Amino acid sequence: MTEQKRRYRFSWELLGDIALGRPNLGQNTRIEVYRLMQFCFRDVMEKELGTEKADQIFYDAGKLAGEEFYNNVLEKVSDFNMFVKNLQAVLKEMGIGIFRVEKSDIENGSFVFTVSEDLDCSGLPELEYEICTYDEGFIAGLLESFTGKQFKVKEVDCWCTGDRTCRFTADMVK
Ligand SMILES: [Zn+2]
Repeated sequence: MTEQKRRYRFSWELLGDIALGRPNLGQNTRIEVYRLMQFCFRDVMEKELGTEKADQIFYDAGKLAGEEFYNNVLEKVSDFNMFVKNLQAVLKEMGIGIFRVEKSDIENGSFVFTVSEDLDCSGLPELEYEICTYDEGFIAGLLESFTGKQFKVKEVDCWCTGDRTCRFTADMVK
């Protein structure tokens, strides 16, 4: 779609002034509400577009979210360990998940991350597949924003596949 025809281009301002808009209800809602929206979007996207396309949209939306999150929420630092430390603190503070680095090979751009108590999937029934496609994109968006390099992120373990944490590999596209 050409740029001038776009109606829904994301901007951080779209998230609104929550203190003004929800003086009584405030920042919080229940996780079910977030998951309800996410899984209903996914259902309709799959019906309309097929599984592969639905996954791609989820990944790309997560990536856009990761980029916006990086630009609007995270403190800008140049050191990778500082970046991870800030990210860990913010993800925990915002109730997104408990983020850890399991493997970090900065030189080759190869990482393994885990997210426990993940907003998207912790506590879901066991399924045949990893479910956190949005998170894959989210992590890719964060890493790409921080490094300026392209990354491919894949969830390899998930609450839904019997692991009690989500595990993601992230590899720089060379
Ligand atoms: Zn997961």
